[in-house]
Order: sequence, then C-alpha cells, then structure tokens
Amino acid sequence: AWFSDPALVRVLALLNGDGGEGRVAGGAVRNSLMGLPVADVDIATTLRPETVAERAKAAGIKAVPTGIEHGTVTLVIDGKPFEVTTLRRDVATNGRHAEVAFGTDWQTDAERRDLTINALYATADGRVIDLVNGLPDIESRTVRFIGDATMRIAEDHLRILRFFRFFALYGSGRPDAEGLKACARAKDTLKKLSAERVWSETKKLLAAPDPGRALLWMRQAGVLTEVLPETEKWGIDAVPGLIEAEKAFGWKPDALLRLAAMVPPDRDRLKALAERLRLSKAEAAVLDYWAAAPEIAPKLAETAFDRLLYRNGPQGLTMRLKLALAAARTRGLGDPEALAFAGLCQRLLARAEKWQKPSFPLNGADVLAAGVPAGPKVGAVLGVIEEEWVAGNFRDGRAKLLARLEGLAREG
Ligand code: ATP
Ligand code: MG
Repeated sequence: AWFSDPALVRVLALLNGDGGEGRVAGGAVRNSLMGLPVADVDIATTLRPETVAERAKAAGIKAVPTGIEHGTVTLVIDGKPFEVTTLRRDVATNGRHAEVAFGTDWQTDAERRDLTINALYATADGRVIDLVNGLPDIESRTVRFIGDATMRIAEDHLRILRFFRFFALYGSGRPDAEGLKACARAKDTLKKLSAERVWSETKKLLAAPDPGRALLWMRQAGVLTEVLPETEKWGIDAVPGLIEAEKAFGWKPDALLRLAAMVPPDRDRLKALAERLRLSKAEAAVLDYWAAAPEIAPKLAETAFDRLLYRNGPQGLTMRLKLALAAARTRGLGDPEALAFAGLCQRLLARAEKWQKPSFPLNGADVLAAGVPAGPKVGAVLGVIEEEWVAGNFRDGRAKLLARLEGLAREG
C-alpha cells in the first residue's frame, strides 16, 4: 500500500533515470512483506549525496543533509521525511565503527547489512529484489545473519543485540542456531561498545510487543548478563506475567516498566545501572520513582493510598501497582489471596490514574503573618502542619489550619 504513496513515488522518480536508481530498502520492505505497519521509509540510491541534494533542489523538494558523510540526505515531501542513503561498502571495520565508502553495487550494499530480512529492496515499479536469500526467511520468520554469523558480529558487535531485537519483533520458533551460537561465543565483545549504543538497542528490544522469548534466549546465551547484570538476582521471570497484564489491561509496551520488572527496586543499584547505561535524565528519574515508591500492602485502605500518592507522586506507585498486579494475576489462579490483591492493585491503579494532587491551603506567607521569623523555621512549621493535614486525609480547611498555625507560632 505504501507504494501508492504519492510522496514516495515522487522521491523514487527523482532518483531514477540519468544513470541513477533509487529503491526502498530495509525495514520498510521487510514490514510490508510481513503485513506489518511501516514506520519510516528508507531509500537506497546509486547517486552520490550531492547529486541527490541537487536533484531535490531542482525539483523544489526540501533536502536536509542529515548525515552527508554517511551518505544520507533526508528529503521532505508533504512534511514526510524520507532518508535517502547512497549505496555503501565497508572499507574497514573494528567491531565498533565501520569506515565506509560510497558504491554503486546493490549486491555489496545488501551484503553489508546485518540480517537477511533487513536487506531486501523494492523498486519503483513494485518488484522486490532479494540478493541475500531473504524472502524465504521473511516467509518463515527466521532472523538470520547475512553470511558467516561470527564474522558479521566481529565487524560490529552491536549485531548481537540486533539479532535478539529482531528475533523479539519478527522471529518465530527458536532463534537460528548458528546465529545464537555465534552470539553466545562473542558475548564478551559487547563490553567494547559505547553505553549509548547498547542502551538504544536494548531499549528497542524491551519495547517490542513481547520481548519475553528473546530475553530467555539472551539469558541462555549469556548475553543478558553482559548487558544487564542487575537482572541476575531478580530475573526476567516477571516479564511474561507483565506482558499478559499489559494485554489484559491495554497498557502500552513500556521499555522502562519492563526493565523495572527485571531489577530489584534498590536505589543505589538502580542509580549505578542508570549511570552505566547512560540513561537520559527522564529515564533515570523513572527508575528512581520505582525505587522510591513504597511497596503496596495487601490490605491498603484507599485513604492510606491517597497519602502515599501525595507523598510519593503517582509515577513510582503506578509502576509498583502494575508490576504487583501482574505478579498477583500470575499467582492468582487457585490462590484467593493473590487474586484479592490483584483486585486491590487494579482499583488503586485506577485511583492513581485519575488522582490530582490536592493543594495544601497554607504557604510561607501565612507562617510569616503568624509571627514566625523568616528563616528555616518557616519551612519547618509549614512541614509539620502539612504532614498533619496529609495524615488527616486532607480534610482540614484553611481556617482550621490557620488556627493550628497560630497555636504552633505561640508555642514558639
Ligand atoms: P526499525 O523498524 O527498527 O527502524 P530497521 O530495519 O529500519 O528497523 P534500523 O536500525 O533503522 O532498522 O536500520 C536500517 C537498516 O540498516 C536495517 O534494516 C539494516 O539493513 C541496516 N543496518 C542497521 N544497523 C546495522 C548494523 N549494525 N549492521 C548492519 N546493517 C545495519
Ligand atoms: Mg529504521
């Protein structure tokens, strides 16, 4: 269906002719052949990046040099971006970076890609070009390295994680035996990669609709311990239950929630994990909420939960509830207590979702007006009253709190 996209037709027409050719490449071809949604359409071309930019300019199409040295020009049509990349060949690889040169040979370009399912092209007239025997693998949903798996991993160690990520997304049955063996043998090389590349690939793996099987195979191959040693004690056994709960309750796949399910909520260790993987500030904060949120008691009253919400915020508690609910559902069959707890978690989760933080009716100016001298005492007094107000389930209004403030100020 994406072939009838007039913007794509225009891009391909721009590249084709006068000794040039453009083809849709990689993920877009793979997904459309598998009947899956296509996120972004990448295009490969025999033309040099400067020529792509020139042709775009002449046709009045916006061209952004997103990675000229890598050969990528992004063409924007109707607000839709198309990454157009010149065919490449590897000149030298060291496991972390590849030195590439531009080329004009489709076979060479295909063979430097990682997996057979990722190396198909589609021409402007809708033909699929398979130079690496990828079509049978698309058909059988086999995730397989192009050429010798061990050699391909030696060229770029990140391909170990890509193997498991694409298996999580598109693989069926067991992973390709040769690829799995090669990944297991090369697992130590993951240490040589930058934390950013490792996390970016791991995050995509964790965000797959169901990464459970891939994680099991990663553990079996010894790869998981290399990437996430923190999962060793806690484990990935919580993941299948979480996936089930996600489906049952319509939660979106969330890489960080899945990560949280696999690691203990220990603040120091999560901090170390966040630093090691160089998580973004926002990602690290999510893990911190998870570590800081108190555990949910099996018989927690709703009023007590509101106090937890006020003190801890909804983020960490929501994670706790989701994971507790998932675990309790898994144990729930034949265990009435676990089932009751799952019910409680579900109710509290709904409460957390619509919760709005009540605003404390007093502020520093009130404390000063009551005669407390400016300084640290103001915050301390305010804190005492706020805590009492929370403990009283937010019932006291401003008048009552002011009276209490007068009392406190008089006491000194
Ligand atoms: P997604 O839907 O996740 O974007 P994709 O197939 O587009 O899937 P990308 O990581 O965006 O994957 O890479 C685009 C293409 O570039 C891949 O399909 C593959 O052909 C090639 N490629 C990407 N990374 C590598 C790598 N490390 N080694 C070899 N080829 C790679
Ligand atoms: Mg892509």
